[in-house]
Amino acid sequence: MTSLVALVDCNNFYASCERAFNPKLEGKPIVVLSNNDGCIIARSEEAKALGIPMGASAFKVKPLLEENNVQVFSSNYTLYGDMSARVMQTLAHFSPHLEVYSIDEAFLDMSYLKGRSACEQAQQLRHTVMQWTGLPVSVGIAPTKTLAKLANRFCKKTAGANHVVLLQNTADIAEALQQTEVGAVWGIGRQHAHKLAAFGIYTAKDLSDASDAFVKKHLTVVGLRTVKELRGEPCLQLEEVAANKQHICTSRSFGQPVIDLELLQEATALYASQCAAKLRRQQCCTSAVTVFLQAYPFKNEQAYYNSKTLQLPAATSSTLELLHYAKLALTFLFRPGYRYKKCGVIVSELCPEAQAQLPLLDTIDRAKHRRLMQAVDSINAKWGKETVTAAAQGVYDENENDRKNPWKMKSAYRSNRYTTHLEELLCVQV
Ligand SMILES: [Mg+2]
Repeated sequence: MTSLVALVDCNNFYASCERAFNPKLEGKPIVVLSNNDGCIIARSEEAKALGIPMGASAFKVKPLLEENNVQVFSSNYTLYGDMSARVMQTLAHFSPHLEVYSIDEAFLDMSYLKGRSACEQAQQLRHTVMQWTGLPVSVGIAPTKTLAKLANRFCKKTAGANHVVLLQNTADIAEALQQTEVGAVWGIGRQHAHKLAAFGIYTAKDLSDASDAFVKKHLTVVGLRTVKELRGEPCLQLEEVAANKQHICTSRSFGQPVIDLELLQEATALYASQCAAKLRRQQCCTSAVTVFLQAYPFKNEQAYYNSKTLQLPAATSSTLELLHYAKLALTFLFRPGYRYKKCGVIVSELCPEAQAQLPLLDTIDRAKHRRLMQAVDSINAKWGKETVTAAAQGVYDENENDRKNPWKMKSAYRSNRYTTHLEELLCVQV
């Protein structure tokens, strides 16, 4: 049996998450803003039709937004992350082989879907995701991952496709390749497209017709894999287990400039704690902690950027240890008088927990740390993120974040975190 892969993509994911909990927004233009309400990172179809550009600064397009009564939201990653997990859980019911590719996209092995045709199965999948999560998805199906990506592009373009496009027979594939600019092919991109144009290669069809030797010379073996995939020969496997990361970075720009060391310490402590929690989730330890600090020039002040990396005596994933070293690193970096814009914590030199080497003379009761961290993680898993935190992160009231924690992000238009916070549940008035 020939292989069939589906790429399932949530339509306008962030905007759709907002709409799922507020049906009044159906048919209305919606935009979602980046961290600190800076620029536009997601648009509903209605907002796209108004000509609101992606990436535009919210400040610049404010008149356009107001004129057209566009609904504006701060990004609500807690909600989007949880909704993403729900979509992926739903998809897992349809195939035992699933690769979560991004927050709103997954590849699915469709060879396992027996019985009805692939298109019927895909419609059933769309219907189920909509019923279980309230989110619309598009499904592109083809013999290879690269062609499935391409098929998905046509879901949005093709009138009457009803959000499902199957590219299986040779004529359909050739037609789709002919209609696709080479730069739009997954893995090719604009830079390569520019280079290829010099050789008269403008469409995906031109590229798939090029000789293997030409492709290998100009796009390396990686490009050759892409081209073979365009020809319908599967070269990219589903990666069902996400590869563990080589480093973890947690950083944010502040909602407003920060001057006090104490506030920077709180922010650094929060990011270090988040890094530690991520390490434990992927059962890893770190041997190096980096803290960085950035102050943008303001009026006549100088810009400042600096970072400090500390090598740890032993690999660890304990929040308490990371907090200690992150705070120490920060003291090397802090210069009074600057208006700080951003700070962050990076943990690197990761190794699996089981392989962490212990120092000869250890002053830390690691078994005790481990038990404490397990307790913290299980409480936070049950009662919500940051139910138990280190005091170093500061005590704050989220509803008053501007006054008490100036380093907290600006998110003036954030919707409720309906699915993860009991006190923010959706209320239905009868
Ligand atoms: Mg999407």
